[in-house]
Parts: sequence; C-alpha cells; structure tokens
Amino acid sequence: MILVTGGAGYIGSHTVINLLNAGKEIVVFDSLENGHIEIIQALQKIGDVKFVKGDLRNIEDIEGVFKNYKIDAVVHFAAFALVGESVENPAKYYRNNTFGTLNLLDTMIKHGCKKIVFSSTCATYGNPNYVPVDEKHPQNPVSPYGSSKLMVEMIMNDYDKAYGLKSIKLRYFNVAGCDKDCRVGEWHEPETHLIPNIIKSTFGEGKTFKIFGDDYNTPDGTCIRDYVNVEDLAEAHRLALEYLEKENKSNVFNLGTEKGDSVKNVFDVCEKVLNQKIPVEVVSRRDGDAEALYANANKVKTVLGWKPQRTIEDSIKTAYRWEEKMETK
Ligand code: UDP
Repeated sequence: MILVTGGAGYIGSHTVINLLNAGKEIVVFDSLENGHIEIIQALQKIGDVKFVKGDLRNIEDIEGVFKNYKIDAVVHFAAFALVGESVENPAKYYRNNTFGTLNLLDTMIKHGCKKIVFSSTCATYGNPNYVPVDEKHPQNPVSPYGSSKLMVEMIMNDYDKAYGLKSIKLRYFNVAGCDKDCRVGEWHEPETHLIPNIIKSTFGEGKTFKIFGDDYNTPDGTCIRDYVNVEDLAEAHRLALEYLEKENKSNVFNLGTEKGDSVKNVFDVCEKVLNQKIPVEVVSRRDGDAEALYANANKVKTVLGWKPQRTIEDSIKTAYRWEEKMETK
C-alpha cells in the first residue's frame, strides 16, 4: 500500500489518480487545512482510496496510519507552500514542513518503511546564478518555505546514510492545469498562482488580472517561469516510485519542461486559447519573485525516462474547465 500525504491537495490528488490507474492501493493522509474533503470524495469515486484525517505535527496521528496499514512506500506532499506567508510566519513552515516531515520519517523508520518520494521545489535554489537550472546548482533558498524544504532534503540524505532510508527528491518548477476529466483540480484559497488568476479574471465583471512588474531584465520585462502540466508531474511520481522499487537508491530530479515562458507570454496564450480579451493591468513587482527560473530536466529524462507530454495550451484548457466547474458550483 502507498501512503500519500497531502493527497487532498492539488498535486497530491492528481498523483493519487495516476497511481490508482497503475493499480496501486492508496491511503491518503491529510489535515484538510488546505486540502478539501470534496477532493477525497472525488478520488473515492475513481478507486479504493482510504482516507485518514490527521496532522503530521502530531506524531500519534501518523503513527496510527502505520499501525493500521502495511505501508510499502510514501509519496509526501503535505506542506504549506506560500512563499510570502512563510516570510511572515516562518514558525508555521518549519513546524509543519520540516518538523512534521521528521515525525513522518521517524515513524517510517520505526515501522521498517524505507522508501519515500518527496515534493521538493525549485525554491530551494533561491535566485539562480544561471538558467536553465540543473540539479547541481547551489541551493541558497531566499524564503523560509524554500529553507523548510531544503532542510528536509538534507535530513533525508542523512537518514539514508544512518538508517538506509531511500528518497527521491523531486524539485518542481511551476505546476499548471488539471485532470483532463475535471474530477480534481487546483483549489487554493487564496489563489496566488498565475494561470488560475488569469482565468479567474475572465469570470465576473470588473476583475482585472494584475501583472506583477514589467521592468525585469527579460525580453518583455516580465518574469520567466517553467510551467509543467500537473498530469505530467503526477506521472513522474509513479516513475520515481518504480525507480525506488527497482534500484533502491536515493536521487534528486528537477521536474520542468525546460521552456521558459514570460508572464506576458502566458497571458497572450490564455487570450488565444480562451478566445477572448482579458482585462489586464501592470502593477508593481511582488516581493521575492526571481527574474527567470526554468529547468534543465535532462537528468529526469535520462534516468527516469520522464518527458512532458502536455503543452501550456493543454494546461490552460483544463485549468479553465476546472474554474468553470468551481464558478458554477
Ligand atoms: N504573477 C502575476 N500575477 C498574478 C500571479 C502571478 O504577474 O496574479 C506572476 C508572478 O509575479 C511570477 C509568475 O507570475 O512572476 C509566476 O507566479 P506564481 O505565483 O504562479 O508561481 P511562483 O513562480 O511564484 O511559484
């Protein structure tokens, strides 16, 4: 059985669908602080998904899961992920993302479970010295969120040496889109991400999409990111689990498309794909935004055989359908 922490969240729920399609048995552990019970219900319509509500900060909660189920491997998403909030309230991030993961890892070791796939982030690199960023790029996070994830990477490496815990660290770049059948999707409150925010401004009167700064040192002045489709990302987790089963080795991979898109470019693609003019204004820069961040994803291609199958147009189309569903709920 595979334990998916944070399976009621955005990337976690898409990964559960992928793993169900691959015939895996799943137990989801989620505090529902940011995840949604409706997502669990949607997953339970797709397959036999067990659900345990609990918080990683309480070691008894996670201990209960390992007592009740025979867990072969863990895919660990449960985390807070707002960069700005992490600057205001670092304690929340270190307690949950770092200390909570320590509870999870200790419980795994105690029960003899030694395989984990971990959602890390390109935020562990900080402001890049060069792009595309490869896995050897120095890690100097510029937010407590990035630091909380980097600390987990370091703990996992030490736990491998000391206790034989094998971990795959997946450093995500930007994630977009949703399930092609719209059963689960991106549901953040508040929403801070680019593509859902552009789409949200197409619903209702008077909503204007805000570009955070057009005075960056990039060709059109707006920030460049690497938008990877969430179903492609989910597939990488399945491949990572298979790698752990076959190779029983720790490793780290960037997950990105290797293509940098500027904010203006993404906005233009949205107008084109959705075939409508979207109200837009340029406002000042958002604190902490790196100018350009996109991946060198050569390693994941050669070692795991993963390749993105979906384009940013695909992500925008599915994200729009999901938003439409949410708006009419
Ligand atoms: N962005 C924007 N307006 C928004 C949301 C995001 O201009 O309403 C920009 C943001 O400044 C960044 C890019 O879009 O340059 C991607 O931001 P997002 O929050 O989606 O992901 P991040 O790269 O911060 O993880």
